[in-house]
Amino acid sequence: MEAEHRRSPRAQGMRASSGETGKLVVVATPIGNLEDITFRAVRVLREADVVVAEDTRKTRGLLTYLGITGKRLVSLHAHNEVDRVPHLIDLLKQDKMVALVSDAGTPGISDPGSHLVAACMRAGLEVTAVPGPSALSTAISLSGFGGGRFLFEGFLPRKGKERRERLHELGIVTEMPVILFEAPHHLGSTLADLMEVCGEERQVFIARELTKVYEELWLGSLGEALSAPLVDQPRGEYVIVLGPRHQEHTTISEEELLVFLEQLMAKGGSRRDLATAASKKLGLSRNKVYAVLNQLHGTTSPPADVPTAGHQCPPVA
Ligand code: SAM
Repeated sequence: MEAEHRRSPRAQGMRASSGETGKLVVVATPIGNLEDITFRAVRVLREADVVVAEDTRKTRGLLTYLGITGKRLVSLHAHNEVDRVPHLIDLLKQDKMVALVSDAGTPGISDPGSHLVAACMRAGLEVTAVPGPSALSTAISLSGFGGGRFLFEGFLPRKGKERRERLHELGIVTEMPVILFEAPHHLGSTLADLMEVCGEERQVFIARELTKVYEELWLGSLGEALSAPLVDQPRGEYVIVLGPRHQEHTTISEEELLVFLEQLMAKGGSRRDLATAASKKLGLSRNKVYAVLNQLHGTTSPPADVPTAGHQCPPVA
C-alpha cells in the first residue's frame, strides 16, 4: 500500500491531469462470478470518460451491478475494431481516459483489444492494464499440469485444412500443457480430434463454468473424456487443458500413495470411497489408485461397481 501511495496518480491508473494526453486502461472483468472484480477495476471504470466494450449491453449490466451509471459506452468487437481505432485515438489525444473491457475476462485474449493497444503504442499514447480474471490463467492454475511452460491455443479453427494443420501441430507438442477454449456444441468433436492426434491415454483436464455456481472440473484420459457427463451433456463455457505426454498428473511416488491409502484405510470406508477420496485429494486417475489399492489387498482388478473413467474434481469453494 505504501509503495502504491508514493506513485503518481498517473502510474496508479487514475485520470490523467489536465494538459496531459489520456490513457488507455485495459481492464479485466469477471469470467462468471461478479465478486471477482478488483477494487482497482471498479475505480477505473468509475473514473473513465469512455468505456470501450465488446458488447455494450453486457457491460452496461456489469456497470449497473457496480453502481456505475451514465457512463459513455463505445462498442469494439471483432468486426469493427480496426475502423474504431482512429476515433478512440482521437479521444485519447483529447485527454480522455478510456477503459477497455471485453464481455468477460481479459481483453486481447481470444477477445478484441489488440489492434487498439498496438495503435496506441504506435501513437506514443500511454497504455496500462488492470489485471484480473481470465479463463486461461484460471484453468491452467487449476489443472495441476505443472507451473512452467504452456501453450495457449485458444479456439481451434472450426474446419478444413487450417484445423487439420493446427491439430497436427498440437499432436507434436508433447512437453507442455496446451490450453484450448471451446464452445459446448463443439466440445465432443474437438476432444475426438485431439484424441486422434494425441492418443486416448493422454491426460486432459476439462473446466466448465469456472467461478460460477455450476462449476465442474474433470480430469482423466482423452479416451475417458468422451463419455464423461460434462462432455456428454455439454452446457456453458469450457476450457480444455491437454496434459503433457508421459507425465503423471502429480509427482507423488507409489510409496507415498501407499502410505496415504494406509492412513485412509485405518479410518475405515469401502474401497470405492478410498479410491474416490485419494483420486480427488491427489489428482490421480482412479485406475492408478486402484493399482496401488490392489497391491495393499493382494488383488488384481477394481471391484465391478466402480467406474474406471476419469474423476470429477470437487467444486471449488
Ligand atoms: N478473454 C477471455 C478471458 O480472458 O477469459 C476469454 C474470451 S473467449 C471469447 C471466451 C472463451 O473462454 C469461452 O468460449 C470459454 O472457452 C472460455 N471461458 C470464458 N469464461 C469461462 C468460464 N467461466 N468457464 C470456462 N471457460 C470459460
